[in-house]
Amino acid sequence: MIGLISATAAGAVAAQRLASAWPERTRVYEGPVRDAVERAFGECEQVVCFLATGAVVRLIAPLLADKGTDPGVVCVDEGGRFAVSLVGGHAGGANALAVEVAEVLGAEPVVTTATDAVGVPGLDTLGLPVEGDVAGVSRALLDGESVELDLEIAWPLPPLPSNVRRPAPDAQAERGGPAIVVTDRVLDADGHPAGDARVVLRPPSLVVGVGASKGAPVDEVLGLIESALRDAGLSPRSLAELATVDAKADEPGLVEAATRLGVPLVTHSAEELAAVEVPNPSDAPLAAVGTPSVAEAAALVGGGELLVPKRKSERADGRPAMATCAVVRRPARGRLAVVGLGPGARDLLTPRAKAELRRASVLVGLDQYVDQIRDLLRPGTRILESGLGAEEERARTAVAEARRGQAVALIGSGDAGVYAMASPALAEASDDIDVIGVPGVTAALAAAAILGAPLGHDHVSISLSDLHTPWEVIERRVRAAAEADIVVTFYNPRSRGRDWQLPKALAILAGHREPTTPVGVVRNASRPDGSHRLTTLAALDPATVDMMTVVTVGNTATREIAGRMVTPRGYRWQENPEGAE
Ligand code: SAH
Repeated sequence: MIGLISATAAGAVAAQRLASAWPERTRVYEGPVRDAVERAFGECEQVVCFLATGAVVRLIAPLLADKGTDPGVVCVDEGGRFAVSLVGGHAGGANALAVEVAEVLGAEPVVTTATDAVGVPGLDTLGLPVEGDVAGVSRALLDGESVELDLEIAWPLPPLPSNVRRPAPDAQAERGGPAIVVTDRVLDADGHPAGDARVVLRPPSLVVGVGASKGAPVDEVLGLIESALRDAGLSPRSLAELATVDAKADEPGLVEAATRLGVPLVTHSAEELAAVEVPNPSDAPLAAVGTPSVAEAAALVGGGELLVPKRKSERADGRPAMATCAVVRRPARGRLAVVGLGPGARDLLTPRAKAELRRASVLVGLDQYVDQIRDLLRPGTRILESGLGAEEERARTAVAEARRGQAVALIGSGDAGVYAMASPALAEASDDIDVIGVPGVTAALAAAAILGAPLGHDHVSISLSDLHTPWEVIERRVRAAAEADIVVTFYNPRSRGRDWQLPKALAILAGHREPTTPVGVVRNASRPDGSHRLTTLAALDPATVDMMTVVTVGNTATREIAGRMVTPRGYRWQENPEGAE
């Protein structure tokens, strides 16, 4: 919950704006500010004060306890010009909140945490639990000292600055100096010199398979899991999930154990588990739930290395054990984000796309698209750019990098899934990588917003490029759209070597629509040199259309109204204003 506190009328208005933007996330604290701050500090994960920073510093000073537990505090000035991340920048989420608040209020976010300021990701913002000397290693990173990265587990990390070095795998380097270790093992001091800063990042690499008899107490289940991890020298903070058989999905001891460990309880069918080869099958689960192994099989379903074979709980009262568990380290999964950059304008690039670009350590894309977002990339991002026509190679490269355990962003203009890179990439991709799709504003939508409301009823996009599609197929689709009276947006309408396709397609549509049917032509939508015009099927001169253009042809109901292209939503709705929106 985000507590909102204000003292003045202007502050109260701004607080109300946030409250109505985020009704579920915010609570407005009324009354004397000192008292309000105190209550909010105790009750909220984050606090936004519409007060001067000086006042807030004095109010919260006696309440501050620990950077790991204190709420993140953001201050907004009386004029609503700045949202200042005051304390709890990383752990309290105040830096991110300052940016969000600024967005709602149209203010400037002010973030002073050193690592954010220079574009280096804070070690506690990498999305992994972090232990150790975060301040010490962050300082070393910023000071340009050499920091060793020990990736015991390959994990798709965001880019790290160039002073982070991976020792050669065979080099018996003397250990020393500041280090970042990515591991699920509990580390002792093993050779790490005291006084050298070290942080440990905990990737979610461990799966614990669990079996339980009906009514197994949660403490027995938890005790078993904790001792299995402890005896194997594994950190519970690397636990990704508990896994079991479908029949145990509602077993209270398992459900509660997962909740307390803060991980999901994932279940698999008995058939799926029975097909997994395990070292220690037995007859009891076969009779009870139809698979010779629950714990080991559930842990091993996704592959990986069995670190702790099946073991049973121990009961102080000497009665039979009610729970079993096994621990598996799952194979590292790379990350492939397929990111649409939108039609060109920076403010039509979604915040999610921006975040994925900064999350990636490898960026793959067409050189002209890379230029569009180069300034957003974190220092250290490896850029693999190529020229027009190398689609398949780009797709293969992106997938290969992800399979090596990297965090990869594959970019495309508009939406990366529309006549773009998503399909060739996913046709290559195996199920051993995670794929994240980020939608983008595709050219048809960017153009429609400029033209008016041409897509108000059923519409279709057709690419006129016959490079990869035979013309007969394209023509059949144009004909179908013509007969079905569907609004059509043509992508790739015309290039220097391809000039007869557009007139031909328009002629097919003209066979079913009036010559006066509105046609919108939009070139370089949302870009500085963008242009558009509204014409008709009869009047459109195809020679004015090129590859930077989309052409949207209305249906038989589309009209030009006040200079805008409008396709009615339908007759029934217009006759019946109470109908569905
Ligand atoms: N993935 C892209 C489309 C790639 S196909 C998207 O979703 O928008 C390339 C074609 O898209 C171009 O020939 C042109 O017809 C169209 N296009 C892309 N960006 C455009 C823009 N800003 N303005 C007009 N048309 C655009």
